[in-house]
Amino acid sequence: MIDPRQPPIDQVQPFQIERGGTRGRLVRLGPLIDTVLAQHAYPEPVAVLLAEMLSLAVALASALKFDGVFTLQTKGDGPIRLMVADVTSGGDVRGYAQFDAGRLEALTAGAGSGLSVPRLLGAGYLAFTVDQGVNTERYQGIVELTGATLVECIHHYFRQSEQLEAGIKLAVAADRGWRAGVLMLQRLPGEGGLDEPEDGELENADDTWRRALALMGSATSAELTDRALAPNDLLYRLFHEDGVRVFTPLTLRAGCRCSRGRVEDMLRALPRDDVEHLKIEGQIDVTCEFCNRHYHFDEADLAALLPPA
Ligand SMILES: [Zn+2]
Repeated sequence: MIDPRQPPIDQVQPFQIERGGTRGRLVRLGPLIDTVLAQHAYPEPVAVLLAEMLSLAVALASALKFDGVFTLQTKGDGPIRLMVADVTSGGDVRGYAQFDAGRLEALTAGAGSGLSVPRLLGAGYLAFTVDQGVNTERYQGIVELTGATLVECIHHYFRQSEQLEAGIKLAVAADRGWRAGVLMLQRLPGEGGLDEPEDGELENADDTWRRALALMGSATSAELTDRALAPNDLLYRLFHEDGVRVFTPLTLRAGCRCSRGRVEDMLRALPRDDVEHLKIEGQIDVTCEFCNRHYHFDEADLAALLPPA
């Protein structure tokens, strides 16, 4: 059991269900979401969806082997135009949303609670990107926004994807700080075939996979977000009949990669005309969309940074 007085931590608990060899992840986030959302003042529907995006990005990233940045992004014609969440292989997580306040207000006034993805995000797409730096190939997966929730959109992606057979269950709660829980199960390619249970009867691998998904589905939102229920206790509660083994957990944190140096590089790379357009009274202010940090460049800074040709 977790002592409820202990501060909550942000972590991914990898595990394996012995029957069928299904791989899984249990993501528990709290302070990380608090930090990301405190950098902005999003209306509730935007905050909830971004909390879901951050949690899903962590779950998906933790199922991949990569050295770089994993990005989950939505783009649509609804009131929430864009959402981005990215996760580095080192465990830094950040995210932001762009929305039209007027359209969002009109929508929430009419609909109250229970706003679905089609109404908030509209028609558009969901994209996954793995960027491992220069001289490496970017992996990108893209799927239309199809489904009432982000999880349904991701399941739609899984169904279309040949590489990844997986299932996800997600819950987000926001009393006394944000809490999110995600369970993700992943069927490993090539590990199909037949499983031999103790009674010697051969069992179909599809049945084993469906059983694991059903057990995952039996987790309640309260269990997924309960700070007093330790990840290992929840996993045991759900999967103990089939045997569950846990591996070393990974810790995550809210972290942005922006810096004054990076903003300077960006300004140097722009055509001079574009730089001129950014100037207000000879000065430039740049705000990081992820963490809302401001970078100010006065005339002297700019003259030093971009000497006249
Ligand atoms: Zn930043």
